[in-house]
Amino acid sequence: MTYAIETPAVTTVPIDGSDEVFPVVRVLCVGRNYAEHAVEMGHDPDREPPFFFMKPAVAVVPGGTLPFPSATADLHHEIELVVAIATGGAAIATADALTHVFGYAVGLDMTRRDLQDQAKQARRPWDMAKGFDRSAPMSPIRPVAAVGHPSQGAIWLRVNGEVRQEGDLAQQIWKVPETLAYLSTLVELRPGDLVMTGTPSGVGPVRRGDHLEGHVDGVGDLAVTYER
Ligand code: MN
Repeated sequence: MTYAIETPAVTTVPIDGSDEVFPVVRVLCVGRNYAEHAVEMGHDPDREPPFFFMKPAVAVVPGGTLPFPSATADLHHEIELVVAIATGGAAIATADALTHVFGYAVGLDMTRRDLQDQAKQARRPWDMAKGFDRSAPMSPIRPVAAVGHPSQGAIWLRVNGEVRQEGDLAQQIWKVPETLAYLSTLVELRPGDLVMTGTPSGVGPVRRGDHLEGHVDGVGDLAVTYER
């Protein structure tokens, strides 16, 4: 078999301490998974079922210097714990969910908040607000063997040295096993999926030239600088 066009490259994420890389299939994202962030976005923090949106694999990039995204006057940061899936499955039981995990990373769910607000008001899809090019900067993945399954620990984001977001993984409304189990009732999880697990409160604007530093205890660090 011969491809009719140039073969698209597989998006990959480095694996901490390894020469191997993690091939990305897609990025599945949980909305409003920390109570204080749900409140700041104007929603009830009670435990309503989780909801999901996607970014394409090509949205994943390493940290470093990035061009400022087009078509927005209100780019927002959302620092998140990312779960990398090793083995897929449908209707996965909560008790089995963690056995499907390869490892964890620190990610940014970059958001064109102005386009998202317009989409919400017009009842239109979020894709161009959430799934644009380079909208998922990602740290290297730390395998479960190195990091275990973090369920508590600090998660924070600084912009130009100032703390903007500060939370704890224990504040997640839907824990990682519950999130994976629920998600696997909607789509069959696949090896190569990355799951972004929501952001703590404190989301806010990012401007040209800003330097972002993100951290999740035990998982890693991610730094991004936007070009002027
Ligand atoms: Mn998010």
